[in-house]
Amino acid sequence: MKRPLDVRQLAERVLAHEPAAVARAISLVEDRRPAAEARIVELLRALGTAPRERCQRVGITGPPGVGKSSLVSALVQCARRAGRSVGVLAVDPSSPRSGGALLGDRARIELDPDDMALFVRSMASGGDLGGLARAAGAAVDVLSAAFELVIVETTGVGQSETDVEHVADTVLLVIQPASGDMLQFLKAGIIEVPDVFVINKADLGAVAERAASELRSALTAVYAGNRPRWTPPIVRTSATSGQGIEELLASLDAHRSSVLEAGELAGRRTRAAAAWALRLFQQRYGEFGVEQAGGRSALLQQFSGWVAAGATAVEVVARAGARAAGP
Ligand code: GDP
Repeated sequence: MKRPLDVRQLAERVLAHEPAAVARAISLVEDRRPAAEARIVELLRALGTAPRERCQRVGITGPPGVGKSSLVSALVQCARRAGRSVGVLAVDPSSPRSGGALLGDRARIELDPDDMALFVRSMASGGDLGGLARAAGAAVDVLSAAFELVIVETTGVGQSETDVEHVADTVLLVIQPASGDMLQFLKAGIIEVPDVFVINKADLGAVAERAASELRSALTAVYAGNRPRWTPPIVRTSATSGQGIEELLASLDAHRSSVLEAGELAGRRTRAAAAWALRLFQQRYGEFGVEQAGGRSALLQQFSGWVAAGATAVEVVARAGARAAGP
């Protein structure tokens, strides 16, 4: 017989960076059975918020084939060389064959089995919440408690590019030269979301140069007149040759420093977690449920308050759900 899971003990092991415990904790947050919810809430509570605050959370998004996985792999190696512990969550479109995550296909990161400071996990998006799996936010919370750098990779098409901003402090959008994607991003307003732009496959030469200058003009037009505190840099990389990877890591650090210096990290995370909770709530209770509970802006305000007081998105949804169900 399986022994019941001691959630507090599990949390302690996650905080001690034990990969097996991190894997077990992520499996728990993926458990969709209603009975699991209380334990998920307990786990995330036990992990606490302090370690999470020390963690740098980066979201990488972009259309399929631009080189996101290759880029994550290169970034991971660069960060490990610098001695930083890294947790990666690769969120994939569900496999129609198995319904499971395509771990073999997607996690192309070369894993050193003895490297205890690198953890990679693949998760199927299940087609919901744009490019992000329902449990991704909670999984990021788990990883954030165990690793210094957490990278969430999502394959985005259309609106889903923006979803990753709910679970990351720094959003990186990867673009392929001469792909025509840029026009689509501009139209969809997605260009305002990323904190760092990457033109990957810079080894393709002149087309990459052109893509970078087109993007620069587009950004200048977007920010016309009012210069933002942080101007998203455009970094050219070649994931295959390693060109630009250190510069990219430096840009991510620069963005983090800028957020910290402005004292915005806590506010950003609170807003992101509240927005994420609202999406989960809406998914579970529908638009009618949202209206019944007072509407989007009232819920967002309430959720922000709960998050600021230490609740995670999962806990917020559980609490709001219990309230919606009434006595
Ligand atoms: P993803 O779907 O965005 O994760 O993209 P992948 O990382 O799977 O890469 C898609 C294809 O582009 C693969 O064949 C990679 O080998 C190739 N690729 C990735 N990065 C580069 C690069 O910097 N230069 C070139 N020339 N090819 C690349």
